[in-house]
Amino acid sequence: MTEDPYRLLASYITQGARVCVLTGAGISAESGVPTFRGGGGAPIWRNYWDPTKLSHRDLLYKDLKLVWDWFDYRREIIKQCEPNPCHILLADIERMLGFEGFTLVTQNVDGLHVLAGSQNLIEMHGNMWRAKGLRCTHHQPLTESPLQEPIPQCAVCGGPLRPNVVLFGENLRTRDWNAASSAAETATVVLVIGTQAEVYPASELPALGKANGAFLAVVNPEPTGLSRIADLVFEEKAVPFAQSLSKYLDLP
Ligand code: NAD
Repeated sequence: MTEDPYRLLASYITQGARVCVLTGAGISAESGVPTFRGGGGAPIWRNYWDPTKLSHRDLLYKDLKLVWDWFDYRREIIKQCEPNPCHILLADIERMLGFEGFTLVTQNVDGLHVLAGSQNLIEMHGNMWRAKGLRCTHHQPLTESPLQEPIPQCAVCGGPLRPNVVLFGENLRTRDWNAASSAAETATVVLVIGTQAEVYPASELPALGKANGAFLAVVNPEPTGLSRIADLVFEEKAVPFAQSLSKYLDLP
């Protein structure tokens, strides 16, 4: 008889395990946050069909107001969204395994993992509820939406504020990449939820874990490039996956 895949995955998520989770836009789709490439409806905004052009670093210098309008549009949607049972399950697993045994790496900028209570969290692409100076790295919370006009200045560099988000054409912070790659390399389990795993370098993390001996599980209603190297593929949405897995875990 084939083993229940949830039971099998849960058998790896026990005391002493080192779990590294990578999440993407799909985990937030059932909270009502649109993904870029499907699930929840791709945003089409002011006739821009390609969000990667709106989220590109070049636009910071060509039209910062347009960048803020785009982020304000997304923040207006996201401020009405709440963490779903999958975000909450990941925070519960962290409490079960302890800070050292669990690292959550997200490509999302929506802040929902923070709201769910995750603490050992690497927001590789930043957080849209923070801003920083255009000419420095000092960052600050930015809870109001939409942003006040004119665009406020950074207290450190005096330049206008920009979203504290890693845009297309920008590099990840070295510190974040080092922490994320080290968590994947030393993991006994890598769990990938709701990402097409196409945006480099976050897309490298599952293979890095697998090459270092981790058990690799993937959750996505659509096939992804990871299916061929994964030990387990759950072809389903994040919330039903979380509901099924939680029955097998010894959660606090
Ligand atoms: P993506 O939009 O490229 O892909 C989303 C993936 O989620 C797809 O593989 C899709 O099949 C899957 N998916 C859709 N609904 C799902 C569900 N209910 N449960 C599980 N999976 C589901 O997103 P990506 O791979 O994260 O990469 C795109 C980039 O866009 C990332 O850098 C990310 O930062 C950014 N982004 C972030 C957000 C956010 O913060 N919530 C939203 C859109 C895009």
